[in-house]
Amino acid sequence: MRTRPADFRFPNTSARVQYVTSAATVSAGSDPERTTDAGPAGPPVASPGDLLRRLRQRHPADPVTHVERVPPRAGTTAPWPSWTPEDLRAAYARRGVTAPWRHQAEAASLAYDRRHVVVATGTASGKSLAYQLPALATLLADPRATVLYLAPTKALAADQLRAVATLEIEGVRPACYDGDTPRAEREWIRRHSRFVLTNPDMLHHGILPGHAQWSGFLRRLAYVVIDECHVYRGVFGSHVAHVLRRLRRQCARYGRTGGPTFVLASATSGDPAAAAGRLTGLPVTAITEDTSPRAGVTFALWEPPLLPPEPSAAAAGSPSPSAAAAGSPSPSAAAAGSPSPSAAAVVLPEQGGHRAAGDTPPMPAPRQESPTGSDLTQVRRSALRETADLLADTVAAGVRTLAFVRSRRGAEVVATSARRSLDEAVPGLGDRVAAYRGGYLREERRELERALLHGDLLGLASTNALELGVDLIGLDAVVICGYPGTRASLWQQAGRAGRSGQEALAVLVARDDPLDTYLVHHPEAVFGAPVEATVLDPANAYVLGPQLACAAAEAPLTPADLELFGDGAKQAVRELVEAGALRQRPTGWYWRHRERPEVDLRGEGGTPVCVVEAATGRLLGTVDGGSAHFLLHPGAVYLHQGVSYVVDSLDLDDGCALVHPEEPDWSTHARDVTSLSVVSVRSYVDAGPVGLFLGEVDVTSQVVSYQRWRIATGEVIDTRPLDLPARELRTVAVWFTLSPESLLVAGVDPADVPGALHAAEHAAIGLLPLVATCDRWDIGGLSTAVHPDTEAPTVFVYDGHPGGAGFAERAYGMAASWLRATRDAIAECGCESGCPSCVQSPKCGNGNNPLSKPDAIRVLDVVLDNLPEVARV
Ligand SMILES: [Zn+2]
Ligand SMILES: [Zn+2]
Repeated sequence: MRTRPADFRFPNTSARVQYVTSAATVSAGSDPERTTDAGPAGPPVASPGDLLRRLRQRHPADPVTHVERVPPRAGTTAPWPSWTPEDLRAAYARRGVTAPWRHQAEAASLAYDRRHVVVATGTASGKSLAYQLPALATLLADPRATVLYLAPTKALAADQLRAVATLEIEGVRPACYDGDTPRAEREWIRRHSRFVLTNPDMLHHGILPGHAQWSGFLRRLAYVVIDECHVYRGVFGSHVAHVLRRLRRQCARYGRTGGPTFVLASATSGDPAAAAGRLTGLPVTAITEDTSPRAGVTFALWEPPLLPPEPSAAAAGSPSPSAAAAGSPSPSAAAAGSPSPSAAAVVLPEQGGHRAAGDTPPMPAPRQESPTGSDLTQVRRSALRETADLLADTVAAGVRTLAFVRSRRGAEVVATSARRSLDEAVPGLGDRVAAYRGGYLREERRELERALLHGDLLGLASTNALELGVDLIGLDAVVICGYPGTRASLWQQAGRAGRSGQEALAVLVARDDPLDTYLVHHPEAVFGAPVEATVLDPANAYVLGPQLACAAAEAPLTPADLELFGDGAKQAVRELVEAGALRQRPTGWYWRHRERPEVDLRGEGGTPVCVVEAATGRLLGTVDGGSAHFLLHPGAVYLHQGVSYVVDSLDLDDGCALVHPEEPDWSTHARDVTSLSVVSVRSYVDAGPVGLFLGEVDVTSQVVSYQRWRIATGEVIDTRPLDLPARELRTVAVWFTLSPESLLVAGVDPADVPGALHAAEHAAIGLLPLVATCDRWDIGGLSTAVHPDTEAPTVFVYDGHPGGAGFAERAYGMAASWLRATRDAIAECGCESGCPSCVQSPKCGNGNNPLSKPDAIRVLDVVLDNLPEVARV
């Protein structure tokens, strides 16, 4: 095995990163004589286990925390349901399907009996047949019946259109109806198509407002199919839930008695029936047992080793790990003049909801990975470096490997680094590794696929753009750099490995993040039954009000309608009347304006701010209003697709930030002051010295300054004041309190209480995605040794979205498991006094100070010892 020079480092600047700009670059220089069977360097590997043994030899301490052998599974078929028409059976037979898998048959039969059903099984388990079968059988039996299919993306709807069309069932006339559908065709589709494929946005903006033109279609609507329904989560999911209620209302108005039957397809998740029930507002039965076949995979969990806390490491140019490991105050704390840990009432805020606009679920918000100097004191080898090494090693062994990296820039860094180390070993070998990013043309993607499948290309580093774009399966190994946020994404990525009859290797490399740390030490959370649930909250007043306005604009609301829209509907309608949006008449509530209400299903976090390059006027992108204060304040270093800009000015009234390209050797970090007040308590658990609460809170935060940190060393250069207005957020929070006495008994010194609570809060935010499909950037937190409203040491965790998106509620309901996992993640991290893998947070508004790792464990032990296993919601 090659040895790497001690000072091996990633390229320092993005300018040195070689971007792969076209597929031509990818295969240029590859040698067709080389075959994948005999690796170009080193002997061939016999099996995934053999390959894994070779990979883990790199480090003196074994980085592998667990190896799971996922055995191959033979599929279990069932007979076609007796009601399956002969035409349909023959059509499937032409496609090579001779019998359905058992779960397909079960779901199809429930749906055919007009029971609402959700199929929540793995990737490629054939969920489409489960809804095609009852839908098409019904269309054949009743020549007037119609079907509406909803997909989160146009591309998926187009795929499904092809699948339905190739079955060639007479009289169905399937058609896509979306923003790209030419006007001339729309009329024909409304009149003649009996299987319309669209997306929730089109249903909301086009079909429902124009319902009169769809009256015939809606009156005969037999099925509504909701594909990839786990995507409808958070605020977006809450909006879609009401769009579906509006659809049910219009069906009823046009005489569809009993309403259409809903068939939903979901990735595996915790409690899919409940999530589907919230989404549709109807009782839904779940089918969760996957009976389709799959290839065997050896799945390794990999934790990058801790870097030695020696001065030599710093001298070699790595970010100094010694400060955190030795427990000395971090440079940021010293320079910022942060409140001392002994100040009893120090309030420690985290910001919530800071996400760049345009993130389309289910992809997690992009996270900035810094390959050279971390913003935080780094004590583990970075996941990017590990991934690059693993990619280089597998390619050197002649194994076709796909590496998934969360950010585009990260993927480029991994590919560049792997290419470089391969070229050091065998000049020219680096050419067989490429980076894949979104935005390629279709032909370029095809060329990449071809090169990889034929072995011209052996390694590819990619963002999860692949999940939604390219059909690339049958690889020998997959390296996943950082937990992709949900088990669904994890298995979707791991599922790229494994050709029929051949075993494959998958490796999950933990990033320095509490959730990743937890998962690599708790394989049962990865391989056992899922607990993470798709969370949405249709009762959110910020969603309900606008949706009721849309419904009223479509047709006056009646008291019966209000029941359909749920508990808060009466109150919301009253507020709309007071605001002058609705007028109450004896026959119902009427929309008062000529124009329809403008409601964006995906909009959140206020009016987006445009990022404009000052010299050219070019629009680089948008950032949501809430994040703009943090990311686009004057002087901020703003990264856009790997290119560095500095902000000249931010005009919040115009919603515009002017920037110029510049790559300074510092990064910027906004600091804010946050306060929180409790508005009301919805539910609580009184557990002796511990209290657990769910309720409404008002969060006020103001970005007051920013720090400039030297990239190479993490040293604070200076702190500069900012003049930005405070922002208010009414949202939902979960919080726990402890009595000061219980903390004393547990051995927490009063002076250490702020650091203990703060550390527990960071880790708790990091672990919430374990039980709810949120990103840690969807939520915020605040901890304090004495809160005026609770009069006790308190940790708050709140939804970062106005009105809440259901995350805090889920956290409350799952508090015992959530906080147990939080405690274990902290306790099991090998660092001494806290690191980004356990209690440090990359978005701390307080410079990660104070933090006390051992005391955080004590705090959580007190909570867990007293809290009943299941809190009542
Ligand atoms: Zn740690
Ligand atoms: Zn913090």
